[in-house]
Amino acid sequence: MDDLRTQDPDLYSIIQREIDRQNDGLELIASENFVSKAVLQAMGTPLTNKYAEGRPGKRYYGGCEVVDEAEVLAQERAKKLFDADWVNVQPHSGATANHAIYLSMMEPGDRLLGLDLAHGGHLTHGSPVNFSGILYDAHFYGVEQDTGRIDMDKVRDKAKAVQPKMLSVGASAYSRDFDFATFRAIADEVGAILWVDMAHPAGLIAADLLNDPLPHAHVVSTTTHKTLRGPRGGMLLVGNDTENPFGKTWKSGKPKMISELLDSAVFPGVIGGPLMHVIAAKAVAFGEALESGFVDYQQRVIENAQAMAEAFVERGYGVISGGTDNHLMLIDLRSKGLTGKEAEALLGEADITVNKNMVPYDTESPFVTSGIRVGTPALTTRGFGPDEFRHVVDLIDRVLSKRDSEGARELVRREVFVLTEQFPLYDHSVLA
Ligand SMILES: *Cc1c(COP(=O)(O)O)cnc(C)c1O
Repeated sequence: MDDLRTQDPDLYSIIQREIDRQNDGLELIASENFVSKAVLQAMGTPLTNKYAEGRPGKRYYGGCEVVDEAEVLAQERAKKLFDADWVNVQPHSGATANHAIYLSMMEPGDRLLGLDLAHGGHLTHGSPVNFSGILYDAHFYGVEQDTGRIDMDKVRDKAKAVQPKMLSVGASAYSRDFDFATFRAIADEVGAILWVDMAHPAGLIAADLLNDPLPHAHVVSTTTHKTLRGPRGGMLLVGNDTENPFGKTWKSGKPKMISELLDSAVFPGVIGGPLMHVIAAKAVAFGEALESGFVDYQQRVIENAQAMAEAFVERGYGVISGGTDNHLMLIDLRSKGLTGKEAEALLGEADITVNKNMVPYDTESPFVTSGIRVGTPALTTRGFGPDEFRHVVDLIDRVLSKRDSEGARELVRREVFVLTEQFPLYDHSVLA
């Protein structure tokens, strides 16, 4: 078996070029991060070869005793990190983790109440184009137009009117913290299951810098690759495991603990064989998150996001809700006469990567949008501080305020290159 470079030069060169792209550009996509070399190493191992359907100690295949240890290590570290009674580290992604929650708690047609996608929610929280909106009866709460924030009294009114079986909390484009205790009180008032999807802020929550959903939610889902800075993947957590108070008994008819329902929903409900190389990499990342430097990193993520939001406001950009409590912000570009689609393309030419994003009460379609979403986790991992992030806002502003000038974009692109050179990321030995 040859190595990749000699066996498959075409693909080798594609990977080289992607490493260059990540090294030489400004990565501001709020859901992305850069994993450590140790995490990359764990993923690129023969653990990918192993079939391990089932759970550690209860597998449907032989030869699992070694990979069992990797999964138990990932579980134990995740439980410690989030102070959880139970975790399942097998979901392949955030969407898969969420799929398992629906399968464990809801029957098709049951009512769900979640945050509107157009107000920062996620596709898997009931969007009509996603399984969650196709199979379940989805209703939504939103943010207020004047404040850009969720008004808990309105959530309560909506919950009383809708009477959902499950109430979901979580977002991919909301820059403020959530009041999980009040969400739980509302769920209790209407007899609903409370599900928190902390896919975005999980790393900030692990570092105790935002409100912790685990004491309040019946079930929590997350990704492992956003602020948490692990490999691409998902995870389910339960803070206080109890017998499921909502009656669902899975297939056996016996009352079950919430954790048991979720375990069965992950496998055999949703996935087949778990990705053992990715689970090993999750263990590595959770180990990194338990080190003291992780809290410091997450503090810098927030500090940098706040510096960035201030710099945008100073330059006359509309920042939804006026600032941020976490790692991201939504910029409304209408005051600059630009759409999100145009801004994403212009910035892309200058090697600055952002994503177009709907702003609350947007009048443009999801393919055009009036805003962009920017986040600090990835560049903070590279070592950027508040000064560099203010510089980044200046570069963004120069591109967007001179949209007819290809020359301006080229100058910014060169400055981006110089800036990124000062904060080295991957060398090509990561492909060795
Ligand atoms: C990113 C995200 C997901 C989905 O994660 P994938 O790994 O992309 O499937 C789910 N929920 C929320 C709130 C997210 O931000």
